[in-house]
Amino acid sequence: METSSAGLDTASKSIIVGAGPAGLTAAYQIGKVGGVAVVLEEDSVVGGISRTAERDGWRFDIGGHRFFTKVTAVSELWHEILDEDDFLLRPRMSRIYYDGKFYDYPLKATNALKNLGIWESVLCVFSYIWARIKSPKDQSHFEGWTASRFGWRLYRKFFKTYTEKVWGIPATELQADWAAQRIKNLSLFKAILNAILPRRNQKEITSLIEEFEYPKFGPGMMWEKCHDLVIDQGNEVLLNHKVKRFLHQDGKVVSVQADGPKGPVEFASDSIISSMPLPHLLQAMDPPASEETLKAASSLTFRDFLTVALIVPEEKGFPDNWIYIHSEEVKVGRVQNFGQWSPYLVKEGRTCLGLEYFVNIGDDLWESDDAALIDRAIAELGVLGLVEPELVEGGYVVRMPRAYPMYDNEYHENVEVIRSWISQNAENVYPVGRNGMHRYNNQDHSMLTAMLSVENIYGASHDIWQVNVEEDYHEEIS
Ligand SMILES: Cc1cc2nc3c(=O)[nH]c(=O)nc-3n(C[C@H](O)[C@H](O)[C@H](O)COP(=O)(O)OP(=O)(O)OC[C@H]3O[C@@H](n4cnc5c(N)ncnc54)[C@H](O)[C@@H]3O)c2cc1C
Repeated sequence: METSSAGLDTASKSIIVGAGPAGLTAAYQIGKVGGVAVVLEEDSVVGGISRTAERDGWRFDIGGHRFFTKVTAVSELWHEILDEDDFLLRPRMSRIYYDGKFYDYPLKATNALKNLGIWESVLCVFSYIWARIKSPKDQSHFEGWTASRFGWRLYRKFFKTYTEKVWGIPATELQADWAAQRIKNLSLFKAILNAILPRRNQKEITSLIEEFEYPKFGPGMMWEKCHDLVIDQGNEVLLNHKVKRFLHQDGKVVSVQADGPKGPVEFASDSIISSMPLPHLLQAMDPPASEETLKAASSLTFRDFLTVALIVPEEKGFPDNWIYIHSEEVKVGRVQNFGQWSPYLVKEGRTCLGLEYFVNIGDDLWESDDAALIDRAIAELGVLGLVEPELVEGGYVVRMPRAYPMYDNEYHENVEVIRSWISQNAENVYPVGRNGMHRYNNQDHSMLTAMLSVENIYGASHDIWQVNVEEDYHEEIS
């Protein structure tokens, strides 16, 4: 057995499924200790959901990818991969558009008061007090969890519409886990306190909220560079290779089959790090997993996403990085201004607005052709009064299937069934990342699960399912 200077079994070969943040991080970490890894990626580009799309020299994200983390090891890795001058430190600004008005987000008491007016504000405060006295009985779902912390009136104005746009289901059918992870544990009381306190007392809050790091050419820059480093380490990243089958015996996966550009290929494997969607991993097992496990896998679902990038004159862009659109009269859920993320994404005198639609594969929006989507996006910008339709120069559409793992009522149980099957039948398979674990992981947690899994391959025993379980990690809805 070959060993590295660190005494690790580096002769063993890891097959890594997916060249997104999790897969590339795993490959890079393996390469650093001299290990052997092959990354199989079905797409023709790297970065997964964290790629930067490029069309006619315009660059934009799938969403908008802030680089923020509480995990030092991840932040160190970002700065190891990219040079210091590749990063921008961006001021953050975002607002909610509701009922024809812009509300600061995170909510600020003074601004909310001004927009709502005295009478409505008083009603909101009473509604909040009432929710504190008589909390909603069922807080296991998004509606109960959020209304208990903000009161029913604020919940209806600022959380319900957007959340239902994102998920496409009533907020009572969405598990509270999502709210707990995505909404800062900011009560109305704390919001008022934040507005009153002098800025110096808010250091901890503002450091997360008011600025973030961003690679100057977008998040894809990180993953393109990481890809190059993996190649320099002597390992392989094979694009256009869709993994179709895992052959397992005696409790382990022994080889992986993929469809490559020249036909089917097979790779012997000592361990598998998988960032492909967890249900797809299960469905690709040969011999097939138990009926119960396959049922759990087919019950895990996703919400899909598409963005329409519109080119407009720079002065028609807004100062925000993004605006949440809570208004019901349009389907768009959020609008990014990519020029506010980085001047390197846009061209002289113009900016690129990304109108984000939360969809299901096969629904009307998903099935619409690009021209119809661009027309709709232009019209909706007009309805919102953000940009006059005739000023839009052109547009591009990018579709992203499976952007959000669904947190429905049964998802947790279904994930448990699958985990248990894997530990008994494919113990050398390490599910990592976002869809790979069916968990609402951002880049940092996706990377951390990959980093810890690599250590597990080399003998550690981290429980990666404990990553990103704390409430109050993220500071907002996104
Ligand atoms: C709208 C939106 C906004 C976001 N904003 C932020 C943000 O501000 N900050 C942040 O840190 N994170 C953000 N995220 C989350 C971030 O995009 C993800 O955490 C990250 O991309 C997950 O990395 P991953 O490698 O686990 O998965 P992915 O990025 O999904 O990559 C998985 C890869 O596996 C490949 N694959 C799948 N199946 C197969 C197969 N069978 N064979 C071969 N390859 C396969 C896919 O093509 C893909 O390239 C956002 C996500 C969305 C949707």
